[in-house]
Amino acid sequence: MAAKEALKIHEVVKFPDPVLKQPGAPVTVFDEALKTLVAEMFESMYAAQGIGLAAPQIALSKRITVIDVSFKKDPKDKLVLINPEVVETRGKQTEEEGCLSLPEIREKVHRAAWVKVKAQNQHGEWFEVEGEELLARALLHEIDHLNGILFIDRISRLKRELVLRKIRKMQKNGEW
Ligand SMILES: [Zn+2]
Repeated sequence: MAAKEALKIHEVVKFPDPVLKQPGAPVTVFDEALKTLVAEMFESMYAAQGIGLAAPQIALSKRITVIDVSFKKDPKDKLVLINPEVVETRGKQTEEEGCLSLPEIREKVHRAAWVKVKAQNQHGEWFEVEGEELLARALLHEIDHLNGILFIDRISRLKRELVLRKIRKMQKNGEW
């Protein structure tokens, strides 16, 4: 058997890459390649200092996301969600949100305070996960990515215009 190869760190694509607007395709094959991809997604997320990463953010239009709200501190926080769906939401929260595909942009976003999600794991088994506060926000943010939705799609038109202006300015200065 060959020695275990180092996991590939995928580059995170930035807005306005069209792949971010595209709903991901459901995963139907749960094989070794999927397990490797999931491991690579965690490494890519950590390398980018993120707590969540969705496959479209590495230019792969598939319904896969990884989350670790404690950023390696608690192994129980490592979540792999394949073909996830929101089952139920409760309450409201409004907090600042960021996204690896929109570096340096932070805006307040309204989200549910609590969420129940069902998803498949790397073996194709369905499970449910419940989250509140930061985890609820991360689950909803990442599931949005799988539906081609970014957090700036959930802020007011005026604020979005300001964000787009800031991005255009950074692009012009070669900072994006
Ligand atoms: Zn994001």
